[in-house]
Amino acid sequence: MNIILLGPPGAGKGTQARMLVEERGMVQLSTGDMLREAKDSGTEMGKIVADVMARGALVTDEIVIGLIKEKLETVKANGFIFDGFPRTLAQADALGDLLATMNETLDAVIEMRVDDEALVARIVARSTCAGCGEVYNDNTKPIPADGVCTNCGQSKEFKRRADDNEESLKTRLMEYYKQTSPLIGYYYAKDSLSRVDGLGDIEAVQAEIKVALDA
Ligand code: AMP
Repeated sequence: MNIILLGPPGAGKGTQARMLVEERGMVQLSTGDMLREAKDSGTEMGKIVADVMARGALVTDEIVIGLIKEKLETVKANGFIFDGFPRTLAQADALGDLLATMNETLDAVIEMRVDDEALVARIVARSTCAGCGEVYNDNTKPIPADGVCTNCGQSKEFKRRADDNEESLKTRLMEYYKQTSPLIGYYYAKDSLSRVDGLGDIEAVQAEIKVALDA
């Protein structure tokens, strides 16, 4: 089964993708993670995308489609979860073509809906464990008092994303509405779309996604 998690920044796509990986043995393909990795390891491509990402703008279709193509060609998986990809209509078309050449199908597109005020509040308060990627929130799920991640029980390091600030968040939201939200109609017309309420707690959202996937 191959699925897309679609939603604005802060909707909880990464958190839900990680749970699906644990539960169903699927592989998460996050273009944001791939680009951050390229940036941190200082590759040529990483240098090109660093400034674009810091501003919250979109990296070119050519780069992200190339990243996804390479993964699809090299990683064996019991299904892929596309997280943060596609973000434009050109990327959606390219994904359809790539899956078709592999004789694979796109089985579901889950739109995670969250209102904008909640998104901003979530994003400016979020941090992640440097070890396992567990997401914390200053208000709803603070970093434990002993400073040790409750998920992996090992890491004492927590990171905030450089682009999780109000300025670049405005750009990221604008890009979402201009370039990514048309994908909701695109996948609706292809009969692939399911909607879940991304505002509930993590388990409630997880349950809604399960219903959508097992329908
Ligand atoms: P994310 O971790 O998904 O929020 O992505 C972080 C940043 O990486 C975005 O704000 C974009 O600058 C870039 N990015 C990630 N995925 C894509 C994509 N599919 N298309 C264009 N840019 C992307």
